[in-house]
Amino acid sequence: MIAKVVVDVAVDREFDYRIPDSLREQVKLGSRVMISFGSRQTQGYVVGFANTSEHAELKLIDAVVGEKPYIDEKLLQLARWMGEYYCAPVELAVRAVLPGAVRRHKAAFKEQLFVERVGGDTGPRGKAPKQDAVLDALERQGGMFLAELVKASGVEAGTVRTLERKGFVRIAKRASLRDPLARHTILPSRPPELMPEQAEALRVVCDSIDRLVPPVVLLHGVTGSGKTEVYLRAIQHALQQDKGAVVLVPEISLTPQTIERFRSRFGGSIAVLHSHLSDGERHDEWHRIHDGEARIVIGARSAVFAPVRNLGLIVVDEEHENSYKQEEAPRYNARDVAVMRGHMQGCAVLLGSATPALESCHNARKGKYCLVSMRRRVDHRSMPSMQVVDMRLEAERTGRVSVFSRELVSAVRARLDRGEQVMLFLNRRGYATSLVCSKCGYVASCEHCSISLTYHRHEEALKCHVCGAGKRVPERCPGCADPQYKLTGIGTQRVEAAVGKIFSGARVARMDADTTTTKGSHDRILGDFRTGKIDILVGTQMIAKGLDFPNVTLIGVLNADTSLHMPDFRAGERTFQLLTQVAGRAGRGEVPGEVIIQTFTPFHAAVQAARRLDYEGFCDKEMEYRQELGYPPFGHLVCVAVKGVVRERVEAAVERFAEALRPLLPASVIPAGPAPAPLERAKGQYRFQLILRAPLTRTILDALKPALRNFRWPSGVSASVDVDALSVL
Ligand code: ADP
Ligand code: ZN
Repeated sequence: MIAKVVVDVAVDREFDYRIPDSLREQVKLGSRVMISFGSRQTQGYVVGFANTSEHAELKLIDAVVGEKPYIDEKLLQLARWMGEYYCAPVELAVRAVLPGAVRRHKAAFKEQLFVERVGGDTGPRGKAPKQDAVLDALERQGGMFLAELVKASGVEAGTVRTLERKGFVRIAKRASLRDPLARHTILPSRPPELMPEQAEALRVVCDSIDRLVPPVVLLHGVTGSGKTEVYLRAIQHALQQDKGAVVLVPEISLTPQTIERFRSRFGGSIAVLHSHLSDGERHDEWHRIHDGEARIVIGARSAVFAPVRNLGLIVVDEEHENSYKQEEAPRYNARDVAVMRGHMQGCAVLLGSATPALESCHNARKGKYCLVSMRRRVDHRSMPSMQVVDMRLEAERTGRVSVFSRELVSAVRARLDRGEQVMLFLNRRGYATSLVCSKCGYVASCEHCSISLTYHRHEEALKCHVCGAGKRVPERCPGCADPQYKLTGIGTQRVEAAVGKIFSGARVARMDADTTTTKGSHDRILGDFRTGKIDILVGTQMIAKGLDFPNVTLIGVLNADTSLHMPDFRAGERTFQLLTQVAGRAGRGEVPGEVIIQTFTPFHAAVQAARRLDYEGFCDKEMEYRQELGYPPFGHLVCVAVKGVVRERVEAAVERFAEALRPLLPASVIPAGPAPAPLERAKGQYRFQLILRAPLTRTILDALKPALRNFRWPSGVSASVDVDALSVL
C-alpha cells in the first residue's frame, strides 16, 4: 500500500510513501504522519492511497501522529476541489482547510483545578453554611473548576480545601478549554414574533435544510428587515434535526455585539473563529468543533472549513462582501466555497444580503438559486429618505471645494438640536489625499508604489496607503524649492477637524484604521456612540456596515465618487452597494432616517439607483453592460498577475508568456493584455496583468495550467493566478 502525502513545506506536489505493515491499521485518509523528507524529518497529511507508484524506491512512513485523522474525507475533497479550481498547490489548499494552530499541534490546554463531589453522606446540613453552598453547587453541577465554583458560591478556596480534607470532594488538575467569550456576560434573549416576510423566508430555508439535495437560498432583505433573526431560527431548525451550522460574517462585522446575538440564543454550543484569536484559542475552538461539543460556528472567511459534525446549514451573511475573497493563494471566495461544500455534503446554504453580488443575482434569475425577498423593515419602520447633493453647484457657488454642502450642514444642525446622532462617511483616511506644489506641480508620491502620499496631520507625516511607508513633510518643495504647499483631497482627519469648527460644542469621534490600532479601541468608540457620549461619528467603511444604532437619524456621505472612479469594471456595483449599506445605518429606531449623498457625478447610474433604493433597477442596467462585454456574471474572469523589481524584465516575461499561451486558447476565451496593472507599482514591484475571460472557468484553466507548467519565469519575476478575481487593480 502506498500513501499520497502532502508536506508542510510548500512544494506543489503529493509524495508517495510506502505504508509499513505495522501502520496499516492506523494510516487513514487525513492522518498526520511523520516522514523523512530530503535530509530531515517532517510532518505531512495523507491525502490519498494508491497501489502502485511511478517511483521505484519509496521511503516508509515513520509514524502516525495522533489518533484521529484531522481532516475527514469530505473536507479533503473540498480542499482538492479548491486547489484545482483556484489554481493553487494542493498543500496550500489543505493548509487553508486546517488552521495552522491545529497543524502545528500547539500547546493546547490550560490545566486548572477541578472539583468533584466524592465520598458519602455529609450528615445534616445547616452547621457550616459555606460548606453547604459548595456542596449544593457541586451536587447541582456534578463538578466544577475551582475558580468557577468560588465565583458561583461566593466562598473562599480554603472552604473547598476543608471539604477535600474531610473526603467529601476531590480536587485534581484537569485540562480546561480557554473560552474566548468567558469575559462577556450573556443574557438569554427571547426570540421576537416573526414578521410575515421573515416567516416565509424561514419556511424556504427550513425546507432546504430538510431536503436530501438542498437548493441554495438567496435571501435578499433590505437593511433592517431582520435577516439575522431568520438565520437564528434556521439554525434552531438545523439543531432540532441534530445538525450543525456554520455562520460566515465579514471580519469587520464579527463584533462582540454580533457574537452576543448568537450566543444569547444558543449559549455554549457556539464556537467563534476569527483572526484575533491567539493560536491557543484557535486550537481549542477547532477541537471543540471537531469533537462535536460546539455545533454552531460563527466566524470570518476561513470558518467555511470548520469541521462541524453533521453539517446541515451554512449561512453567508453579507454575501456580496469582498472580504470573503482571500488575497493570497489559495485565492478562494468563501461564499463560493460554501456553495461547493453544501453541494458536496448535501447541506443547505443560505446567502443573505441587502445588495446581493451580481453573480448571486444572476444565479437566482437563472433559477440556480432559490430567491426570497424581504422588502420591508421590521416593525414597519420606514426606509430612509435619500437626497443627492450636486457638489459641482456647491463649488460654483462658493468658488472652492468644500467638505460640507449647505444642505448637509443644516441637516446636521437639526439633529444636534434634537439630541439625535449623525454618522459621516468618507472612504478615505488621513487628512489630505495629496500634497501638491502649486508652483511647479510636484506631487508627493511613494518611492515604492505608483500612488500619491496621504498627509496625516497628527503625525505630521506623509504616508503610503499601499505599502505603509512614511516620511516627514519636506519643508520646501523638492521640485522647485518653494516653501508653499497645497493640501488637496479630503480625508477623515480633515472632516473631523472641520466638524469641530462648524459644529462647535458637538462631541465628535473618528473611526478608521488609524484610530483603531490598539486592542479594544474599536469596541470603545462604538460603545461611546451607542451610549450617547458621541454626537457625530466620522468614519470609513468601518462604520458602513452592519451597525445598528437606533438614535442615528442622519447619514452624510461626503464624497460618493471615491469608489466610483476606480479603474475596475465593478466600480459601479461597489459604489451602489456601499451607498445602500451606509444608508441602511439610518433610521433604525422610531424616528425615520435621512441620507444625504454628496457627489460630483449626481447622475451616475449607481448613485441614482442608490437614491431610489432600487436594487433590481441597478441590476438590470449593470447586467446589460456586463453581458455586452462578457464580464462576470456572464462568464468568468481569471487574472494572471506578474511582478518583479525590474520593469523591463517583468514586461518581457509577461509578453513571452502571453505568446506561449495564445495558441493554446480556444476561441471562447477572450484575452486582454498583457498590460501594466492600474496600480503599476506596489511595494517596489512592477505589476503587469493578463486577463482572460470565458463562459466557463474550465476552458481558461485547461489552457492556462499547462502553459504555466511549461513556462519558466526568469529569476526576479513571479506570477500568480487569481480565478474569479474581484479586484483587478
Ligand atoms: P438586517 O440584518 O436585515 O439589517 P437585523 O437582523 O439586524 O436586520 O434586524 C434589525 C433589528 O430588528 C434588530 O434590532 C432585531 O433585533 C430586530 N428584529 C428582527 N426581527 C424582529 C421581529 N420579528 N420583531 C421585532 N424586532 C425584530
Ligand atoms: Zn508605497
